[in-house]
Amino acid sequence: MARRKASLQEKPTQTLTVKAKAVTFKQKAFRILPDNRVMLRLPRTYSRREIILEYRLSPKDFLGEVKQVKLVFSSQTSDWYLHIVHRVSVKYREPGNIMALDLGIVNIAAGILSTGQTFLVPGGALLALDRYFHKEIAKCRSSSSRRSRNLNRKWSRQRKHYLHALTRWIVDYAAGNNVSVIVVEELKGIRSDANWGDRGNQKLHAWPYRKIIRMLTYKAALKGIRVVDVSEKDTSITCPICRRRAKSARVMRGLFRHCGCLFNADMVGAYNILQRYLQEAGQPASGVVGGLARPAVNLFVWRKTTPQGREQGTFRQTA
Ligand SMILES: [Zn+2]
Repeated sequence: MARRKASLQEKPTQTLTVKAKAVTFKQKAFRILPDNRVMLRLPRTYSRREIILEYRLSPKDFLGEVKQVKLVFSSQTSDWYLHIVHRVSVKYREPGNIMALDLGIVNIAAGILSTGQTFLVPGGALLALDRYFHKEIAKCRSSSSRRSRNLNRKWSRQRKHYLHALTRWIVDYAAGNNVSVIVVEELKGIRSDANWGDRGNQKLHAWPYRKIIRMLTYKAALKGIRVVDVSEKDTSITCPICRRRAKSARVMRGLFRHCGCLFNADMVGAYNILQRYLQEAGQPASGVVGGLARPAVNLFVWRKTTPQGREQGTFRQTA
């Protein structure tokens, strides 16, 4: 099952007084019309009985049978969103390569494949985006002002775009390298709940671990790839060479030094997540540590050509 969001072109708030925070439309209460439109039959309590909404999704995003449609209010942007829930059948791939991901703040993703390939995605683009909007919103007279609400809306949209681009890039990379399983850390502990706010008082957006996992899971499933998790215990402090716990090995600037070797600390995390998965799955350990020292770096580049400004971007690999 995948959930799709589309912002409304006709805002129901302008034509209706909707009291609920979410309205669900099941089989008989909606009809998908041609040209990206959907007709909703409203419950008796509303003044209008039917509304027709347009949504912006290209035909290639149409995933199959629509199971239900929801109107959901976001208090963050003060907008109503149309959620279209599709029933999708997923066919998982035959066992292939494994990809392990360490998700973090400085590097939003550090990845390693069981083939030894490694990559890093620095989180700077997202941090910069959050800093910018936080600063601009702080200048507004009130949080309910039109400007503040517009900034919040733009912030959410750009963040969402970034996270979609990130997870799409990771899943495409996985699919292109015959990966059948993507392994991540279990969702718990301080890191998963940590706010960006450690670096300021940016409270509006938490570090988007949950969102990334959710997007990765459904995007991967559509390509037949499973997303599974393993315990995060000691994954950041275990030496890839001697396999000992080495707390003091994490030195300055995200480096890990042990056994006479210097590694990127986040790559060490990904490596250990991979080893833990292989161990739990009863598969032989992967001995490749070469890529840990020099991962391929992928930077997010905003394209500034859209009318709305900094709207879209892609990941590019640096030399
Ligand atoms: Zn060691």
